[in-house]
Amino acid sequence: MYIGVDLGGTKIAAGLVDDNLKIIKKASCPTNVGRPYSEIIKDIACLIEDILAQTGYSQSDIKSIGLGSPGVPDIKNGVLVFSNNLQWNFVPVRTELQKYFNTPVYLDNDANCAAIGEYAAGAAKQYNTTVLVTLGTGIGGGIVLNDKIHNGFNYAGGEIGHMVIKAGGIPCSCGRDGCWERYASVTGLIYMANNAAKEHPESMLTQILNKGEKLNGRNIFDCAKSGDKTALKVIEDFRYYIAVGITNIINILQPEAVVVGGGISNEGEYLLAPVREQVAKEVYTDKVPLPHIIKASLGNDAGIIGAAIVGQYQ
Ligand SMILES: [Zn+2]
Repeated sequence: MYIGVDLGGTKIAAGLVDDNLKIIKKASCPTNVGRPYSEIIKDIACLIEDILAQTGYSQSDIKSIGLGSPGVPDIKNGVLVFSNNLQWNFVPVRTELQKYFNTPVYLDNDANCAAIGEYAAGAAKQYNTTVLVTLGTGIGGGIVLNDKIHNGFNYAGGEIGHMVIKAGGIPCSCGRDGCWERYASVTGLIYMANNAAKEHPESMLTQILNKGEKLNGRNIFDCAKSGDKTALKVIEDFRYYIAVGITNIINILQPEAVVVGGGISNEGEYLLAPVREQVAKEVYTDKVPLPHIIKASLGNDAGIIGAAIVGQYQ
């Protein structure tokens, strides 16, 4: 038995995970960012204790606790070096959590944990090297090479969303211009759709805005599927930008699988089939087997399952 914790800027989700990597019980509570870290970690401990109490297990049944958090972790020392979302700097997560549990505690980046979840128990289960690309507000990335998370000597690597795909392009919060996540995240999609709506007042996108509603991933896709030409062009551009970044990843790493996650991946083949075609056109060589580009299968559970076992892949 393991405990996996997905610590986010909005909520903390924890789960009891069995040896077959199935979640037995989940619970969550709000993070309420801005409080002292000791209070937030105390809430994590309470969440874990509740789960154990409700399932009849005790601390001695738990092999390890793993915690996935946004930001840059110091994996060796179990310290969260920096997290913008949590407003944390150098927080000794392992030491603090071990005040409550006499159990090994592992810490890693949340995107890495999700990648381990998909690699060990999800869409990439039968594949070796895997890159998880999570399309959300930004683009999260987790790279699994030779059964280990690859995130660099200082644990700050794997930031695939911040590879520039258009030099001098749209400014990014990281300080560069033209990062992949400015174009191929849901935020990028909405940005492009809003611009297209301004240029094409006859489009269904404009009708949505005129009703006082906002554009989101779902309604932009719905407009395209209903035959709206402007929305379709936006979706085609979006898929193209996704393909550009995935091609870059493939040219460098040639992973056996690229797993695409995030809510927008529920568009399934409507999103991914054209991406695959574009990647096949653009990759350095098509004389070798191409990596599989597939949809993630665990949803939000990937983060909990991956965190639970992350210590085995560090
Ligand atoms: Zn960036």
